[in-house]
Amino acid sequence: MIDAFKGFPGFKVYSLDEFSEKNPFHDSLKNSTISESSDNTDIEQLKMDLLSAGTPVDTNELQAYFGRKIGNDITATGNRLRALKAKKIQTEKDKAEIEKLSAIVKQAFADKIKFGNGVHKSFLSKIVDESGNNFDLEQLKAAIKKRPGLKLKQNGKIEKSGTFLGQNGKMQRGAGSRIFYNIGLPALRGIAVNEKTDEIVVVDTCPGAGKCVPYCYAMNGGYIMFPEVWLSQARILNYLINDPVGFFKELKQAILSAQKKAEKNGDTVVVRYHDAGDFFSPAYLAFAAKLAREMPDVDFYAYTKVGNNIISDLPDNLILNWSEDAKSADKKVIKIALDNGKQIKNSLTIPSEMFSDLIQKVNNGRPDYDENGKFIWLGDGLQEFKQRIAKKYGFDVSTVITFNEMLTKEETNVPTWNVIVQSREPDDSARRRDVANTLLVFH
Ligand code: SF4
Repeated sequence: MIDAFKGFPGFKVYSLDEFSEKNPFHDSLKNSTISESSDNTDIEQLKMDLLSAGTPVDTNELQAYFGRKIGNDITATGNRLRALKAKKIQTEKDKAEIEKLSAIVKQAFADKIKFGNGVHKSFLSKIVDESGNNFDLEQLKAAIKKRPGLKLKQNGKIEKSGTFLGQNGKMQRGAGSRIFYNIGLPALRGIAVNEKTDEIVVVDTCPGAGKCVPYCYAMNGGYIMFPEVWLSQARILNYLINDPVGFFKELKQAILSAQKKAEKNGDTVVVRYHDAGDFFSPAYLAFAAKLAREMPDVDFYAYTKVGNNIISDLPDNLILNWSEDAKSADKKVIKIALDNGKQIKNSLTIPSEMFSDLIQKVNNGRPDYDENGKFIWLGDGLQEFKQRIAKKYGFDVSTVITFNEMLTKEETNVPTWNVIVQSREPDDSARRRDVANTLLVFH
């Protein structure tokens, strides 16, 4: 869908950054850090803070948005618009259609900024009346308010989606004896219910998101294709903000069960927060810090674009990676921290120009891959790439290593390595304390 927004007159991708700087929801929530004492806070005390993360939505506005969502095929609209724009000679009729379709595309993007992935279309089609304009919001609320349940506990079989704690198969393959799990939230914004007031609310789940918004992986593909994914994420978010005590206990129990199972095979458990979403409030981060302190044998990690999350005082087994494309206010927080000598674990995306000429390509100019799905470096291409990285980022070249090289290094607590990670490689560098920078290489 994001592709549908690219390249239209009047639609400026760079302006989205500015737009997303003007966060419509509770910016104040992220304006504080948590401290060592935060995790001593009774989870009950976090309840109000978490619940206040949800901003009530006007129901007329919601109905109108659902109507647009169900009534427009934005991909088809984008394709049609592109085709019209590509015409060498545009008739007056074409121009009128371009104007109409451009307005639809712009509105769809504005909806995305306000509601994220919103509610899955297939669910909307079940709750709409015959006129096509009125949606049964009570049914929506009832579906979201249902607790996600722990299939994990019941049968020990961990499914990829639709469960509270989904196993991240990609990471498991590469991580050997570390079993990774993932807790997902809706990307950018999530629709939930304030169970105290019974209002539908929107939670800004990615308060630090800046330029990443138009390209967000979690607002595309499998994340938006399947209704179960939407419903699972919505229920998890809703559970978290309404009953953090229950959520905490259940999550802890789910991890303990996974840990017990892993230990039988000599494995350890790693939990990644948020393949989508972020620690959207200090209360949520305090929640995670408390859980990490109560489970010292489990490593928890996450990427974040909220500067104050990074500078918070966290337990050693809650590892945060600073992620690019954040809002400028969050970048400033990081800059000040760096200027004051704070060590920050980073995740950087390496521009393809830095390695495109060093890898083997197939006829269409796309990269060629070896049997493990990795780039095939030309001659000394990898070494040259390491040199370029070292020069650009001011690293000692001997600290720039590949993911496989990292696996041969004994793990320490000293941030040392700058690890090149290709798109098909696992996420272990984000969890390791001895990795200073994860260098993401996508073509
Ligand atoms: S922070 Fe991540 S999940 Fe959130 S909008 Fe950006 S890319 Fe998507």
